[in-house]
Amino acid sequence: MSSSQTRYVIIGTAGHVDHGKTTLIRALTGMETDRHPEERQRGMSIDLGFAHWDLPGDIVAGIVDVPGHERFVHNMLAGASEFDLALLLIAADEGVMPQSKEHLAILQLLNVKRGVIVITKIDTVTDDWLELVREEVAQAVQGTFLEDAPVVPVSAITGEGLDRLRDAVAEIARSVPPRDEKKPFRLPIDDVFVKAGFGTIVRGAIFSGSVAVGQEVLLQPSGRKARIRSLHCYGRPTNRAVAGQRAAMNLSGLKKEEIRRGDVVTGEVPLTVTQSIAVLLRLLPDLKKALKSGMQVQFHHGTAERAAVVDLLGRERLKAGEEAVAVFRLSKVIACAWGDRVIVRAFSPLTTIGGGTIVEMDSDRLMRTDRKRIVADWDLKSLDEMGYLISRINESPNGVTVSDMSQRLFLNPSVVQAMLSQFLRNGSAVPLTAGTVMGKEWLDRYVIGIVDQLTHFHSERPLRRGMSKESLRTAIGADLSRENFEAILKILSDQGLAVADGEVVRLATHSVRLTEEQESVARRIEQKCLLSGFTPPEIGELMADDPNGEQFGDIVNHLLETGQLVRVGDFLYHPQTIEKAKEVVKSLVKAKGSFTAAQFRDQVGASRKYVVPLLEYLDHVGFTVRIGDVRFVKG
Ligand code: GDP
Ligand code: MG
Repeated sequence: MSSSQTRYVIIGTAGHVDHGKTTLIRALTGMETDRHPEERQRGMSIDLGFAHWDLPGDIVAGIVDVPGHERFVHNMLAGASEFDLALLLIAADEGVMPQSKEHLAILQLLNVKRGVIVITKIDTVTDDWLELVREEVAQAVQGTFLEDAPVVPVSAITGEGLDRLRDAVAEIARSVPPRDEKKPFRLPIDDVFVKAGFGTIVRGAIFSGSVAVGQEVLLQPSGRKARIRSLHCYGRPTNRAVAGQRAAMNLSGLKKEEIRRGDVVTGEVPLTVTQSIAVLLRLLPDLKKALKSGMQVQFHHGTAERAAVVDLLGRERLKAGEEAVAVFRLSKVIACAWGDRVIVRAFSPLTTIGGGTIVEMDSDRLMRTDRKRIVADWDLKSLDEMGYLISRINESPNGVTVSDMSQRLFLNPSVVQAMLSQFLRNGSAVPLTAGTVMGKEWLDRYVIGIVDQLTHFHSERPLRRGMSKESLRTAIGADLSRENFEAILKILSDQGLAVADGEVVRLATHSVRLTEEQESVARRIEQKCLLSGFTPPEIGELMADDPNGEQFGDIVNHLLETGQLVRVGDFLYHPQTIEKAKEVVKSLVKAKGSFTAAQFRDQVGASRKYVVPLLEYLDHVGFTVRIGDVRFVKG
């Protein structure tokens, strides 16, 4: 049962209460799926039950026995999301009943593709009667995935038809494609219990990927971590379990109370934890009431269920058989991924009304009304994994990252990398930083924006060396992250278009050139600073003196940027004065080994107001070092 050729499939049973599901599973596998004492007592399944069934051709099937009673439909949903194949049971004596229909509708909504129709209890009816039931069944499955499915009449009591059923199921099981290998590990939990001597055990069908003993796993949505102490598949211990198997996992580091049905176990790639989910929703064709925007519904995903409010994105109502994108605001977060199937039920009466696939989650797009439209306007026909990736790239001002997309699409990072490289090859996207890819249109928009902004800035402020990085970034797009902005500047500087110099950015072609008039203003300022020596003017003082206003400020700025003046606190020194100060310091140190502020003041003949900032400046540029009240020359 564990050879490498073994195929694993998950079979779900569906059908009205008392139509013989539990009895049939017992007859086929010898296993008892009614686990609760209460179930045995009442002769009715109230929770999911599990059995495994060895089929011809090295196939091991995990069978999920779902309860049929209406108020237990949510348990059926808990098991249904992983079915490779469904057995729809209809009792020959009663024929097609309401829950037969609802279960079929749910299987259909969950996109279950294969199945076998089983007419049970044939020992209780005549051949004529059976013929009529066959007709009724054929009508009920018309237009569904079971339309062309084999119909096998059986009796669990006499054993009639059981061999035929086994062969029919085995044949279909062989056509089940292997579970998607591009997908990371995920196991939706349908059962948690404590086993004495072992600790906490969770069970479920492995939806995708594989898992091994010793591996660290993540419990979602709580985000708690655990290690797999041991694994059991179909009653036997194993070191590794793969998609399509039902597995029981002994988790260390987690208490039973910390886990509940609806939680998901994942591995290296986590699911997205979210409270807002957009679904391409289709309502069942025979619905009596329309779904209205703002209505409260029951939302089912994997083994999780939540109350939710539906937002039809501007539409008032959705009618039977119609399809549209709807956003569901859940009562509590769930862990999910793009493309996951969901089922929606209405309250009073509690009935399944529709279902669909997740097309977006946890996103700006769903939080902000203006952005929800984007989702509503998507070309949903082209919305496969690649289409989703393209739409994200097209809409994301900061591009996409491999890790974010592998989480959203729930694909292994190497798969996302390969998808992204197609865009890189055809030039529609550009690698920006390690792991980040930006749409070419966004990049072009930013590049044009930067060049425009700088051109404008240089013409307005020709005496400025360039524009401050932060004002440039906010001018071209407040949504652009600093990291991505830096990466774009790097691209521009590699292309020789712009130069980033410290916190200032300029076009490569820009240099400051003073007019004759500006040049004479500059010389006047420079002279004034030179002549005032150790009692230099303050910036504000100079400005107040000059009628040229802003231009004057730019000239001062230019002199500072080009080193023709030095700013010390609010004072403007001529560089020659700074040099003189250094000479004074050197001679003081030469004579005495160190010096005090008072000694320096006496040498230069300026008041404390000038001397303190000047000495601090010399400390700051690393010329001197201060220890207590005295200073030394550094190095
Ligand atoms: P479930 O609710 O679909 O799981 O139905 P059960 O397996 O609990 O069966 C309901 C009742 O039908 C039980 O009393 C069974 O003994 C009976 N039953 C199940 N299968 C057959 C059958 O093939 N023939 C007859 N005569 N009775 C059956
Ligand atoms: Mg049962």
